[in-house]
Formats: sequence, structure tokens, C-alpha cells
Amino acid sequence: MTDQTVDVAIVGSGFAGLGAAVTLAEAGRTDVVILEKGSSVGGTWRDNTYPGCACDVQSHLYSFSFAPNPDWTRTFARQPEIRAYLESVVDRYDLRGKLRFGREVTAMEWDGARWAVTTADGSVVHARAVVWGTGPLHLPSTPEIEGVEEFRGTVFHSSRWDHDHDLRGRRVAVIGTGASAIQFVPHIQREVASLTLFQRTAPWVLPKPDRPIPALVRALYRRIPLAQRIQRSLVYARNEMLVGGFLKPARMKVIEAFARLHLDRTFADRPDLKAKLTPDFTIGCKRILMSNDYYSALKQPNVDVVTDGITRVTPTGVVTADGVEHEVDTIIFGTGFRVGESLRDVAVTGRDGVKLADEWADGPQAHLGTTVAGFPNLFLMIGPNTGLGHSSMVFMIESQTRFILDALALLDAHGATAIDTRRDRQDAFNAEVQRRLQGSVWNSGGCKSWYLDAHGNNRTVWPGYTFDYRRRLRKVHRADHELVS
Ligand code: NAP
Repeated sequence: MTDQTVDVAIVGSGFAGLGAAVTLAEAGRTDVVILEKGSSVGGTWRDNTYPGCACDVQSHLYSFSFAPNPDWTRTFARQPEIRAYLESVVDRYDLRGKLRFGREVTAMEWDGARWAVTTADGSVVHARAVVWGTGPLHLPSTPEIEGVEEFRGTVFHSSRWDHDHDLRGRRVAVIGTGASAIQFVPHIQREVASLTLFQRTAPWVLPKPDRPIPALVRALYRRIPLAQRIQRSLVYARNEMLVGGFLKPARMKVIEAFARLHLDRTFADRPDLKAKLTPDFTIGCKRILMSNDYYSALKQPNVDVVTDGITRVTPTGVVTADGVEHEVDTIIFGTGFRVGESLRDVAVTGRDGVKLADEWADGPQAHLGTTVAGFPNLFLMIGPNTGLGHSSMVFMIESQTRFILDALALLDAHGATAIDTRRDRQDAFNAEVQRRLQGSVWNSGGCKSWYLDAHGNNRTVWPGYTFDYRRRLRKVHRADHELVS
């Protein structure tokens, strides 16, 4: 593989990377490569193929504003449809020629004018700017449980589903009850002999307003795109109404009462299960889950919900703190992702030899979740404190791509080599974010979640309305940055 020089290198080809590529191309910036570690596009929607995988944000909103899809077959599309949508975006915007598959980025170094982006095959892409679009949810997190290596059956993580392993008639252990597990548990429950679900923390689960979109409505969206845009706006506005509750947890009581009612109704005949499945924290502290079949699956006779902690794995099963060995032949980890660590395994060296790993030793921080002082012309998509518990990350991604476009335009207008964020502005921004998070449901709702890091800081969530985020990224404020010639 030979070295290459381009204007912009984009890393990752999920929603973030593709969104950036389209925005740049539409603005005439076509000297771009997209480096992708996998062999096809789609990011998390390529990796997660578990049964029942679907979006929990409405598809009219969970899609690019510039590429509406009138053909969504359901209000909450399923993984194959979302993946196909992203492939269609690649074709629609003629991005195939820019994609470089099998190119995992291992190191990036700023040489004073360009980034030298090294990939695992040893080749280097020299780029004036880098857009880091690998997303926060692509490195599986598998807890280190004593004895797992000695287990004689099959073990896999939900985001690396083993489709060759036929689950019919198996005795299956599922560890974890997060957004992924509640989607695949109802699907596999129907075919396995027994399903032992290991729950550490009961999540709040609301009914999912998911339904097919009738062909007639789809035809309407095709004929009158404005109708779909109106629908998208309505969904957006409804989701934003949750923000007030996240920031002032007392207001979440209404939604919590609804979720309790859902539990009461579903488990009127099973008080034992209701007790196990009733959360002990304020709704919203962890991501609110939605499902129409999770609770009913747990009521089936072949399911056992185990709330005792796991102590070890034996060659034939999972042992819990009460000393019971639960015999199984398959273990599925639905234990989530190493969130926000996508840059931890990459050696990133900025101005004056500063390492990003050192800068972020106490947790990741960026300005507007997008730029980092000392790392010029590096733009993080879905960077620190841009995550949402209520709406579409695609909206945040599109806010960031506009900012990147503006930053590049600023460089060109001033004939500058680089744009670097002022540390004092970055620090002020992060102080404000942390202040706004104090008292929010994520920080004070009484749960332990992946929103909080080892120091108890929330480096994950955007503490406000998404339109406020967009407003702040609409243009690059010169006072926040230094232009380097
Ligand atoms: P997750 O929300 O992080 O859930 C992980 C689950 O594993 C939790 O129940 C957790 O328990 C449990 N767990 C972790 N370590 C454990 C251990 N050592 N022992 C026992 N249990 C353990 O992961 P996820 O379900 O894969 O979802 C991750 C994120 O992906 C979601 O929050 C969401 O942003 C995204 N996602 C989105 C969709 C969608 O529809 N758009 C679908 C799936 C995933 P605790 O609660 O006690 O930590």
C-alpha cells in the first residue's frame, strides 16, 4: 500500500463518517478518503446483527436530513434496513471511490502542517484535516469473569453475534439487560430450551410505539416529501420535550409513573418477577429502554431471571453469589461497549509532541465535543459530551459536519495552515457542561451508568436541547480558536 496525500481523511464509515463525507462533497471538497477498518460501511449498524436489532429512535429522525428515506417500512427501522439505507447513501452521493476498507488507523501525528495517519498495514495518509468518525459504541465490553476461558460451550458478545451457532434447543445464559439484550432476548427465547438472564441492574422499560408504515403513507412521502419533513419535525419536537425532565429529575416522575403502571399491568400475576424487574433509580438515569416483547418473554416458562451477582464461570455453567451453578451450553454477553475509548488504542500526537492519551488521562474533554486544544485540524465526531438519551445522534452529527465545513472555510479564507482551539475556551466550555450536568438525572438519579467515568464525571451526555447544540456549532467563533499560519 503506498502513501497518499489528501485534503481530508475521514476515519470510519458509519453515520458520522458518511455524513461528513457527503457534507464535504456537497461543498465541493472532494479530495477526501474514508479509512474504514471493516470491509463494508455502516459502523455499528454493520457490526450489530443480533436477532431483533433495531433502532430505538424513530427512523424519520434517525436518518440524514439531506437524504430522507420515504421507504422506511416501520417507525423504528430494523438493522438490515438501516444498513441498507447507509449503503444507499454511499451510492446516492457517489462515495464508493473514496472508501478504503481494511484500513484500521493505529497512529496519527501532527507534523506542523498535516496529520500523518498511519494504518495497520503500515501505510500513511497525509491529510490537512482529520475527521474522527468511529463512534463511541464499537469496541465490545466483555467483563473479565473468572473461568470464562475454561467454559466448554460457546461464548460470544451481542455485537459479534455467532450466526453459525444454532441456538435451537440450547441452554443459554444471557449476561446484561441493556438496550441490546432487551432486543435479542425475546427473539432467542422462542427457540432456546432454557434462557437464564443475569440481571445486575433492572432497567426502566417503556412500550415501544413501533408499527409498520403503510404502503399508502410511504407513497405519500415519495410523492410529497414535505409530508415526511413535517413528520420528522414532529418527532424531533416531541423528543426534545424530554430534555426538561433530564435536567430537572423531579419532572421525570410522570414518565416513571407510566413505567410503573406498565410493570404493574404486565406482572399483575407475577409479583416475583415484578419485584426483580422494578428499577431502584430515577427513570432516565440510564438510557430509557423501549420494548413490546421483552417483559412478555421473561414470563415464559423457559426463562429464569437471576439477580444474584455472577462470581465465576465453570466448564459447564455460571455460578452466582448464592453458590448456585446455572448449567448452560452457551453464554451471550449483552454487556455493552467500551464507551468513548475509540481513541484510546490509537497513538495520537498533536502540537509539540503532546499525546492525546496524556491530555485525556483524567477523562476525555473537547471544545463543543468536537475539537481539542493542541490537536489542530482534528475534528471528533460524537466526541465527549455529545451523547443523547432522547433523540437522534444523526442530528448531532449533522451539527458537527456544518462546524467542520465552516472551520475549513475559515482556514482557506485566511490562508492559514491550521485551526487550534484555545485551551481557556475549551476549559470554560467544559466547566459550563459539568455545571449544567450537576443535578441532572444522569448525575443524580441514583444509578451507575456508562455515562459516568471512573471518576464519576459525566463525559458522555450533552446537557441540553439539541437545537442549542446546533446553534453553538452553526459557525466557528474566532475567539475560541487560534489560526496557525
Ligand atoms: P449497555 O446499555 O451498556 O448494557 C450493558 C448491560 O450489561 C447492562 O445491563 C449492564 O448492567 C450489564 N453488565 C455489564 N457488565 C456486567 C457484568 N460484569 N456483570 C453483569 N452484568 C453486566 O449495553 P448495550 O445494551 O449493548 O447498549 C449500549 C448502547 O448502545 C445503548 O445505551 C445505546 O446507546 C446503544 N444501543 C442502541 C440501540 C438502538 O436501538 N438505537 C440498540 C442497542 C444499543 P448494569 O446496568 O448493572 O451496568
